[in-house]
Amino acid sequence: MAGRKQVTVIGGGSSGMVAAISAARSGAEVVLLERMNRIGKKLLVTGNGRCNMTNANCELSRFHGGNRAVVASVLAQFPVRDTLVFFERLGIAWKTEEDGKIYPHSDQASAVLDVLRYELEQLKVAILVEAEVAAVCPESGAFALQLQDSREISASRVVLASGGRAGPQFGSNGSGYRLARSLGHRVIEPLPGIVSLRLDALFLPRLKGIKFVGSIQARSGGDVLRREVGEILFTDYGISGPPVLQVSRMVMAAMKRNTTPVVALDLFPDLELEQLDRTLKDRFAQQAHKPLDMGLVGLLNKRLIPVVLAQAGIHDTSRACAGLAAQERQQLSALLKDWSFNVTGSQSWHDAQVAAGGISLDEVNPATLESLRQPGFYLCGEVLDVDGDCGGFNLQWAWSSGWVAGRHAAEC
Ligand SMILES: Cc1cc2nc3c(=O)[nH]c(=O)nc-3n(C[C@H](O)[C@H](O)[C@H](O)COP(=O)(O)OP(=O)(O)OC[C@H]3O[C@@H](n4cnc5c(N)ncnc54)[C@H](O)[C@@H]3O)c2cc1C
Repeated sequence: MAGRKQVTVIGGGSSGMVAAISAARSGAEVVLLERMNRIGKKLLVTGNGRCNMTNANCELSRFHGGNRAVVASVLAQFPVRDTLVFFERLGIAWKTEEDGKIYPHSDQASAVLDVLRYELEQLKVAILVEAEVAAVCPESGAFALQLQDSREISASRVVLASGGRAGPQFGSNGSGYRLARSLGHRVIEPLPGIVSLRLDALFLPRLKGIKFVGSIQARSGGDVLRREVGEILFTDYGISGPPVLQVSRMVMAAMKRNTTPVVALDLFPDLELEQLDRTLKDRFAQQAHKPLDMGLVGLLNKRLIPVVLAQAGIHDTSRACAGLAAQERQQLSALLKDWSFNVTGSQSWHDAQVAAGGISLDEVNPATLESLRQPGFYLCGEVLDVDGDCGGFNLQWAWSSGWVAGRHAAEC
């Protein structure tokens, strides 16, 4: 149709689908290019297949990365309530769970993808799959996009929604950083975020599979970075579980600053140190005749017992509980309240849920997400230097930034 803006969106993930819908609703002729054989692969696995689509407590403090003003401007233009109305109109009823996490009522991420796909079809968005953009070439006020297979597509406006590097098996292989760099953008080196941590301890394989509800405190150079409580899982390489994922971003950022971060586990977060020590004292008095390792059965996971005793410096576990010196018991109590490990790294991008880092927010217009380096080029989603906490914040950023970039690409 003569006079209609042609907007081409690179990447059919969460932000790209919403950018395409928003551009099409604003009157543009939209093409959505996706390198995988179908759009929305990552969306399908979000929230363990349930899609934690946003969060009722969407404060700015839950987002990390670059320029806060950009994040605030984008979230104000398409806040949580608008997101929920947007999805309700597409057919998604929703419910709120613990910590403000919002899920589709059907508990199906596939439902979210289905309604987005349906809307894209209704809006006649042209979807090209197996279409990986290899180069974006500005050409006299417009763009020529070169695909990996040598096809060429022209567009008056381009929205880069290629995601970061987390979960490359779902499509986001980091190629967007290269495309943005070719147009003069700066990329803050991305690190895996919301990811399990690798720890320095030879005994970890013996603890593999043990779960406990405890707290994790991440520290670096004497500073406390963050503390979280919840179910923690030992693995053969380190630790995982929701509280670990939540602190991982801070830990990885500390590693990037060349410090050796430490995580300290508290296996009894509801007890003060003195209370725990009193509990152990009473327990050992009551079971005075039992060997030490037996004296802890029922209080700690059985596989943990020899490891924590050894770590507390108590090696002869066959002696009776009555024979344990007060100082040894206090060492054990202290360990159970503050069991610290050096962090050696994280699991790979394959296991990470988000990229912390990305294209600098200082190079986009906060109101429109248009590039300040290349007019007509817009950016949204995880490819930018924004990452949220675990809990629906990353998808909210994808929806909000996709909406803003798509609308302005179509209207400006
Ligand atoms: C296992 C897992 C669970 C998660 N669960 C949640 C959750 O419950 N709640 C939450 O808020 N967040 C969750 N996240 C994070 C959230 O999914 C992402 O932050 C969000 O999907 C990012 O959206 P995006 O559109 O920016 O990128 P993506 O969803 O990664 O989409 C980018 C798309 O661009 C395509 N692409 C890349 N390069 C090119 C190119 N050159 N040409 C063409 N196409 C290209 C990719 O194939 C991909 O389809 C989870 C992530 C993972 C990995």
